[in-house]
Amino acid sequence: MVKVNENFLKLEKNYLFINIAKKVKAFSEAHPDADIIRMGIGDVTLPIAQCVIDAMKKGADEMAVKETFRGYEDSGAGYDFLREAISGYYGSFGVTVKPSEIRVNDGAKSDCGNIVDIFSDDNTVLITDPAYPVYVDTNRMNGRKVIFADSNEENGFAAMPDKSVHADIIYLCSPNNPTGSVYTAAQLKEWVDYALENGAVMIYDSAYEAFITEDGVPRSIFAIEGARKCAIEMCSLSKTAGFTGMRCGYTVIPEELTVKASDGSEVSIAQLWGRRQGSKFNGVSYPVQCAAAAVFSEEGLRQTKENIKYYQNNARVIASALDEMGIKYTGGKNSPYIWLKCPDGMGSWDFFDRLLEEANVVGTPGAGFGKNGEGWFRLTAFGDADRTREAMERIKKMSF
Ligand code: PLP
Repeated sequence: MVKVNENFLKLEKNYLFINIAKKVKAFSEAHPDADIIRMGIGDVTLPIAQCVIDAMKKGADEMAVKETFRGYEDSGAGYDFLREAISGYYGSFGVTVKPSEIRVNDGAKSDCGNIVDIFSDDNTVLITDPAYPVYVDTNRMNGRKVIFADSNEENGFAAMPDKSVHADIIYLCSPNNPTGSVYTAAQLKEWVDYALENGAVMIYDSAYEAFITEDGVPRSIFAIEGARKCAIEMCSLSKTAGFTGMRCGYTVIPEELTVKASDGSEVSIAQLWGRRQGSKFNGVSYPVQCAAAAVFSEEGLRQTKENIKYYQNNARVIASALDEMGIKYTGGKNSPYIWLKCPDGMGSWDFFDRLLEEANVVGTPGAGFGKNGEGWFRLTAFGDADRTREAMERIKKMSF
């Protein structure tokens, strides 16, 4: 009789967004006139830049012409024109990544989850807590041992390595979801050194790099010396260019990243990943890759930056309201997320209920992202500017 992978049965039930939806539904049924403002889900709301859509349409038109029609993509790693555009984008912030080191995918979630296929199940995985839940879930699905590095108020939600603890795979995310915190170059150097000392591979999620505004906050792990020997970077156009409904991202694995196999041979991680993707991943459609390449054109970057500025402005509105109220928070500066400390020592869900009932505003309880999230709360800057302002005015009227 077939057996299921029982690791799935041991996964924590992911009730976070289901519970939120249930609570919001019950509230709006009880208060049909309530004007609810949603600042919970981490999805973008602005439309995609026109030049990007034009490029996708042109790509689609080419599919209707015999001479320009394209079937299976040969390499499965992404068309050269897109990998070259991404490589050029890295160059614009001073990081050298070769087109051949880039693999195009359908978004960072897939690669963050699937990359574990190429690593043995007896590795110990270190994940900062709180974290984007995909890191924990995908490793637990394989029964891998997961340990945590605490991100908390004391360290500004930027956990640092504990040299007395060994890890084989390390997940870092900067700018961070959910806390909006970032690592400085000096902090990342400590993590890179720790990874090298442990013979570990770091999986670095830079899905929010486009939101970085401060100097000294790297937009890529490859800005750090030594990272090419230990890190894999995952990035996405979802939040950079509004691609959550288009689906395109990219993963960078440097040529230097090799790991010793049990027979003593040096194994290229890029080759292993290429082998995995060749068998299990279909690639990204040609029109979407045309659109993605247009994001990195001069006009594409200009237009997408406008959208990011809009969200950054929302983040400033949220942050300044919290400043006025004397509520502690991280994020907002280099991130679309603001991670606030629930006032009066309230628990995350208690604060959720009060915000919904008194201000008719929906956010995300921090407890849903790990144990260190309890007592904290995530607001996102991805909403409409007027509604964001309105939400913060309502919150300011609450008494804590
Ligand atoms: N990584 C982080 C930290 C995220 O917050 C998200 C999405 O919210 C992703 C990756 C996934 O992005 P994508 O839409 O590219 O799969």
